[in-house]
Amino acid sequence: MSALFCRTTVRAFIRSTDVVPGTRRLAVRPLSSVGEPQQSTESAPPPPEDTWEDVPQDFYDIIVSGGGMVGAAMALALGSDPVLLGRRILMLDGGPRRVLTQVPDRFSSRVCSLTPGTVQLLQDIGAWDHIKNMRVRPYKRMQVWDACSDAMITFDRDELNEDIAHIVENDVILSGLMQQLDGMQGLVDVMFDTKVKGYKLPSKVADGEDSPWARVILEDGRVLDTRLLIGADGPKSLLRQTANIRQLSWSYSQAGVVATLKLSEPTVNNVAWQRFLPTGPIAMLPLSETHSNLVWSTTSEDAETLLQMQPEEFVEAVNSAFWQDYKREAAVDSAVQTVQSILSTISPGGTSARQLPPSVSDVDADSRAMFPLGLGHATQYVKHRMAIIGDAAHRVHPMAGQGVNLGFGDVSCLKQVVSDAEATGEDIGSVDRLLEFETKRQQAVIPMMAAIEGLHRLYSSDNPALVLLRSVGLQFTNAIKPLKNEIMGFASK
Ligand SMILES: Cc1cc2nc3c(=O)[nH]c(=O)nc-3n(C[C@H](O)[C@H](O)[C@H](O)COP(=O)(O)OP(=O)(O)OC[C@H]3O[C@@H](n4cnc5c(N)ncnc54)[C@H](O)[C@@H]3O)c2cc1C
Repeated sequence: MSALFCRTTVRAFIRSTDVVPGTRRLAVRPLSSVGEPQQSTESAPPPPEDTWEDVPQDFYDIIVSGGGMVGAAMALALGSDPVLLGRRILMLDGGPRRVLTQVPDRFSSRVCSLTPGTVQLLQDIGAWDHIKNMRVRPYKRMQVWDACSDAMITFDRDELNEDIAHIVENDVILSGLMQQLDGMQGLVDVMFDTKVKGYKLPSKVADGEDSPWARVILEDGRVLDTRLLIGADGPKSLLRQTANIRQLSWSYSQAGVVATLKLSEPTVNNVAWQRFLPTGPIAMLPLSETHSNLVWSTTSEDAETLLQMQPEEFVEAVNSAFWQDYKREAAVDSAVQTVQSILSTISPGGTSARQLPPSVSDVDADSRAMFPLGLGHATQYVKHRMAIIGDAAHRVHPMAGQGVNLGFGDVSCLKQVVSDAEATGEDIGSVDRLLEFETKRQQAVIPMMAAIEGLHRLYSSDNPALVLLRSVGLQFTNAIKPLKNEIMGFASK
């Protein structure tokens, strides 16, 4: 009886809320009015196929599914947009709420390098002050060099007194976002420990029987309907799979080994270092005057070995990966030296001096971990009433430190598209509107992915011809300041 009541009222509810897209009528029904048995004059028995899953308990204008760094930023961006005031917004996540009550003395080994574009977004949504007050480390210089030749490139912001990027622990980023979300009660609803079991997506033209909304079915049995469902549910995105969106993906058969390193002596530590080894890049990112973070991409077997090593052995492996001489070809060395002297003559002072990375004396206990590395790109980012963002839409190799920055770029773009649709009275979940987000983001994401993939392939070989090609290319790029500025601008968004 109650199931029948629910189904019929739900149908009535759906029709009553199937409003002219863009009108500001709140399509909200109190939870109690849906699930509770109520007096009804209807006496027909429920159809046999009726299930609890058919019964939505609540309606949101926007649901963000996944509250990692990208999903939390999305919820905040939407919640802080005055144009969307009055819209019901929910962010849910299958995991617990992750807020640091105090910043731990030890650094977490999961960090991200946040570009100026990301910092701007975090400022706009009010999370940056929380993050900055916890722990961030800006850097002003980046040195990237090849283990198979003397070629190197540096990116400097010293003369501009600006930062290239900030290294921030993932826990700190997430905690800053959560602290800001805490202050948005009434604007954004938040549910943790709330795992999604499945989604149901409408076809573009509702047939009158099915719900015109996107539906979220939770593991605890609750069902939520929404005008716009945003999937920020990570690289294995259930929403992407449910929407039958194809993903181009491959594994690099590589893993990223991360760790917190103690430096042999305190330094100003404002340089990010990356050396391309034939097995993959190794990067040391500044955390403080005494500590740096390691991201070492290598074969899965080597990664396992690095995790098993005794701390002293591991430290030695890290130091020699940065310092050790690798197999060199005399012909490549001589070509690189010739190019170098020509460039120094044409542009004296145009090529910056090589610096030596700090040496490492210890590794923090329990800070070592490894993550499988792969590439993934969804062929579509949107369908009717849904969009995917962050790693759900694209996953890249960490060598360029772009993964989460691309996700934050999605946040800025999707927020603007939704806001514009709302302002002009259009349906915020209409695929026609959402396609603008897909087009803009694919124009930004695909060139970045192609560049990262190209670099990965170029540097995964010690073939002398390739080493020569990339070394000369790197030297010219290093010497041409406008080109370097272009690259820096491209990677800073
Ligand atoms: C070694 C390494 C180094 C990196 N370094 C950098 C760097 O320097 N700079 C950079 O920009 N990027 C970096 N990245 C990439 C970056 O970590 C990712 O891009 C980022 O974490 C993706 O965030 P996300 O919010 O999209 O996804 P996730 O962090 O995967 O979050 C997904 C969320 O969805 C939730 N979820 C999933 N399924 C469900 C479900 N069914 N129900 C409810 N909730 C669900 C999960 O609980 C999770 O909280 C690095 C990655 C690696 C591996």
